Amino acid sequence: MRTEKYTPKLRQRIVDRDNGECQYPTYSEKRGWGKCGQKNHPECHHIIPQRQSKLSGDPEVNNSDNLITIGRGHHQTAVHPDMEETRRDYGRQKKLGIDKPDSYNHTFKKRDQKVKEGQKYWNTDFDAHFADVADERSHLMEERKDGFFIAGKKQK
Ligand SMILES: [Zn+2]
Ligand SMILES: [Zn+2]
Repeated sequence: MRTEKYTPKLRQRIVDRDNGECQYPTYSEKRGWGKCGQKNHPECHHIIPQRQSKLSGDPEVNNSDNLITIGRGHHQTAVHPDMEETRRDYGRQKKLGIDKPDSYNHTFKKRDQKVKEGQKYWNTDFDAHFADVADERSHLMEERKDGFFIAGKKQK
């Protein structure tokens, strides 16, 4: 598997691969389990996060099968629950007139500590599912010569 730099181009390729839809699983009475599918603010999530990978010595995290599209809403709360408190704390510090709040650095230090202790700092509930989806969709993408896959329209 090719390892790439994480660039805006790669990020866009993943979002396009996933049709811009949030892949976080949600449940509704009508359709049962399915992907969230929201197209607002798509973000690219590293299934094995970059920080985790760096600290555990595995540099290969920018493969398309480690990347998945998750909408900002699910990404910054459900997948990375520590971001909620971090944002709140940032807001509090700003309100207090602190020019450069340390909220994010503080959270990142806590993440580093967790990695050192062998704990996961993100929500791992759907990691296996995300890996399956990313793998499946990446293979479809690779079948196209230009490396570009338009979801739902598997073209030759
Ligand atoms: Zn979502
Ligand atoms: Zn993420």
